[in-house]
Amino acid sequence: MRKKIVAGNWKMNKSQYEANKLANELAVVQLAVNVEVIVIPTSIFISEVKSNLQNSSIKLGVQNTAGTDNGAYTGEISAAQIKSAGIEYALVGHSERREYFNESNKDLVQKINQLLAHSITPIYCCGEVLAEREKGNHFNLVKTQIEEGLFHLSETELLNCVIAYEPVWAIGTGVTASSDQAQEMHGFIRSILVEKYGQDIANKISILYGGSCKPSNAQELFANSDVDGGLIGGASLVAESFAAIVNSF
Ligand code: PEP
Repeated sequence: MRKKIVAGNWKMNKSQYEANKLANELAVVQLAVNVEVIVIPTSIFISEVKSNLQNSSIKLGVQNTAGTDNGAYTGEISAAQIKSAGIEYALVGHSERREYFNESNKDLVQKINQLLAHSITPIYCCGEVLAEREKGNHFNLVKTQIEEGLFHLSETELLNCVIAYEPVWAIGTGVTASSDQAQEMHGFIRSILVEKYGQDIANKISILYGGSCKPSNAQELFANSDVDGGLIGGASLVAESFAAIVNSF
């Protein structure tokens, strides 16, 4: 009933040549038809990557967006521009943006509002650092991220969002949350959505897991009832491993 989604976040990796090569490889690889597959390249290459993928069902996303309308904001890319380039998804609040660019939940609200106003689906990232988990504060922290980032939205707006739970201690470290840890947090996130928006709406929101997800663990993670797919970093940089993850449901 919920969309199964696997999104590959290429981050600040790949040259122009390499990005096009990977797109061309993905365009011909066998991918499960019941999964929404998204690639999220560096923005400078996105139009070329998109045209290399034009004969496949793979969708495109951006890694970041401005929280304002078009205007004098050097270096930024607006939701209006993203829409005009035919892009359907945008990451919001990836932990690297929260940590290195000081993006607060309040900043992210502006970005989400811009994206929704231009009919782009935000993939809202949340997740705790290791110290918060060790203190037993991970549920509170993720609850706050969800409440402050998303709870201003109407039911219809929320239905146009995807959530990605990414424990920061698992991102790029090779350490994956166990299947039980992932389900525990995904179930918790859905329960918060139920409280605010009701069961029907909460049941329709896809919640992706991110953090060292790879072909060897994707199947176990995706088998959980509240894990609706993955946000993939490192393993999305190679067509074969990304495809194997997509085909893990
Ligand atoms: C990410 O950065 O969103 C991510 C999940 O990275 P990795 O898969 O490399 O841990």
